[in-house]
Amino acid sequence: MGLRPAEQREQARQLTARLGAEGVLNVALTWVDNAGITRVKAIPAQRLENAVHRGVGMSPVFDVFTSDDAITESAHLGGPDGDLRLHPDLDRLTTLAAQPGWAWAPADRYDQLGLPHLACQRQFARRMTEKAAAAGLDLRMGFETEWVVTRAPDPRRPHHTTAPDDGSTPAAGSTPAAGLLDYPCTGPAYGMTRLVELSDYLRDVTEALTLQGVDVLQIHPEYAQGQFEVTTTPGDPVRAADDVVLVRETIRAVSARHGLRATFAPTVVAGQVGNGCHLHLSLHREGSSLHRAAGAEWGLAPDAHAFLAGVLADLPALLAIGCPSPASYLRLQPSRWAGVYQCWGVENREAALRLITGAPDDPDGGHAEVKTFDAAANPYLVVGSVIAAGLHGIETGTPLPAPETGDPGVLGVRERARRGIVRLPATLTEAADRFEKSAPLHEALGKVLHGAILAVRRAEEEHFAESEAEEIAAATRGRW
Ligand code: GLU
Ligand code: MG
Repeated sequence: MGLRPAEQREQARQLTARLGAEGVLNVALTWVDNAGITRVKAIPAQRLENAVHRGVGMSPVFDVFTSDDAITESAHLGGPDGDLRLHPDLDRLTTLAAQPGWAWAPADRYDQLGLPHLACQRQFARRMTEKAAAAGLDLRMGFETEWVVTRAPDPRRPHHTTAPDDGSTPAAGSTPAAGLLDYPCTGPAYGMTRLVELSDYLRDVTEALTLQGVDVLQIHPEYAQGQFEVTTTPGDPVRAADDVVLVRETIRAVSARHGLRATFAPTVVAGQVGNGCHLHLSLHREGSSLHRAAGAEWGLAPDAHAFLAGVLADLPALLAIGCPSPASYLRLQPSRWAGVYQCWGVENREAALRLITGAPDDPDGGHAEVKTFDAAANPYLVVGSVIAAGLHGIETGTPLPAPETGDPGVLGVRERARRGIVRLPATLTEAADRFEKSAPLHEALGKVLHGAILAVRRAEEEHFAESEAEEIAAATRGRW
């Protein structure tokens, strides 16, 4: 972005030639809707220049799509009328290693006159990044991707499960009980056994990401059955959001090539540890980390301190962005490292906001982690809204409360109250209520985007209002 249209078209021509040489036939243009679903239009590689120039059509109604593909409406959006244009960001055009013949680019959404669509989440993320930059703040962000892998459904079997232990055949078409999900690995949490069981698969995930220019920091088994995690290098906020989209779709594609299926859904099995999508962030000014201020408490320069305090203060409303599904709230249970209390702590994995100090001699070691968010969230909305909350913290000079050590979940109600530790919203309804009233988020998102997000949250609540936990998990675990 940032190039004049003629230069972009020339860039597209050159890239088309490169794609041809690489055997790429199609380019997938993605954007993420308010329900956190990555939606796509694909074009033949030769149409790339046209897509840059004219965009590719897509209805604005997707702004009010829910995670089950139902359609709701807001004051500004809904209905069959209108058209938007998806414009690929050529700087992120990536040949896909696990989908031969395919390339990918994230898209920004404009109207037919070439004006930014008011509800474009990716441009919102960029606007917030630029607002921080105008205040001299350079943010680096990265998402932690957790996923659960199962065996792909075998079409010869009546449904997607292993046979029951008693050898009987499950009834055709019945919903698989979660206990019958077919995991390709059985090793313990964080166990080498699990890594050995799936070593070809994990190698292929790492290789594909690396070939696509995404640098892997770590890849390892996680806690829950069939669960893994990958972390990648941080970058500017829009890049971080693009990266997490690319990481997920790459894992999905590698999984398919191994006869496996990946899910990033917050709750795979109700009552068990879920998939988080924690956000890591650090603040910098003129190339120096604001987490390394000499003599400052926790090394936090005043702007980093107030930024993090602003994020912590707005977390109840931010949950409607970062934990957008009723399934998110099945995951958000105490003592599961999911950060369900509105508190922060130094290296405290039960605090919603974990401050990571790093080695004292590492100039880039300091950063913070918001643990509460999951992968049902639109990552562009996450980075933009977190920046908005942080900048609001700087404007108001919000101080951080005292840090917490230990697990607030094991304290009694009275002790938590004495320490002023509050539980974050425990339902989507509560989070959406807080979001509805959040002036900083309303102002940052604008009424069109804020209204669309709220409409989608209300529709998700209503859809699952009568559902039991396991029904919600079963209905949503295949959606992200
Ligand atoms: N799976 C946990 C979650 O739901 C996170 C574990 C970790 O700290 O990485 O967020
Ligand atoms: Mg993890």
